[in-house]
Amino acid sequence: MTERPIGICPLCGLEKTIHESHFIPNALYPDAIELEYATPASSGTGGPQAKKHLLCGDCEHLFNRNGESEVLWHIAPKTQKKFPLHDLLKQSSPREITPAYLRFSGKDIGVKMDHFAYFALSLVWRGAITSWPMPDGNYTTPIRLGNYQEPIRRFLAGETPLPPDIFVIVCVCIDQESQSVWYEPAPVQGVPYTAFGFLMRGVYFRVHLGSDTPKDIQNRNCAGPFKAIHAIHFERDTLETHARLKETQRRARSTSSVPLAIT
Ligand SMILES: [Zn+2]
Repeated sequence: MTERPIGICPLCGLEKTIHESHFIPNALYPDAIELEYATPASSGTGGPQAKKHLLCGDCEHLFNRNGESEVLWHIAPKTQKKFPLHDLLKQSSPREITPAYLRFSGKDIGVKMDHFAYFALSLVWRGAITSWPMPDGNYTTPIRLGNYQEPIRRFLAGETPLPPDIFVIVCVCIDQESQSVWYEPAPVQGVPYTAFGFLMRGVYFRVHLGSDTPKDIQNRNCAGPFKAIHAIHFERDTLETHARLKETQRRARSTSSVPLAIT
């Protein structure tokens, strides 16, 4: 076993023993499952090996307690063929039905949506503060959170509540395609606001930054008063995003192999 290094933990800012952290929780993609993935830097099949020494043990524990344990319970059970969150929505009554989605309330179905918000923000933050090694040896390109990076860090560290101009949308994808592809947080293209989306094991998360986020989206915040969670058919968007990431990757390949330092 390699010795754990001492360093400054980027979440709490303290000098501590640094543990090996995962970008994507391992339980989401066990070795037995061959899934397709796509990022601006790489694509292929297999589970993510994205891990590096990053956080202290206390902050790893915080990520687990405030986000991952609830999310994994609902979307990554030990029996891999099951998708408990999808099954739960199928048995529940939606609060709203539109052609685009069914909207449920986490309060009705006993799902802690605040933990989903924390999980989504922890993943986006991890994707912003460093680059991560992917299964094929390439590295992710850090996303840019701009002025929101520090408020998100403070929220994740437990120093502040969720800032009022950050919104997290959670959608359970009912199509098979979305349940067999994953992609890391990437900017949402072609919209007049700032948002990052990612797909994990049939759940699409979107993080919106800024008070210019459309009111309709603000009202569907999973951490807002309605604790919203949606069911959507996502196949077309999944395929389009997948194709776009592959195209970006072709253009970026020449510069994508250099790992960037933690900033
Ligand atoms: Zn820490």
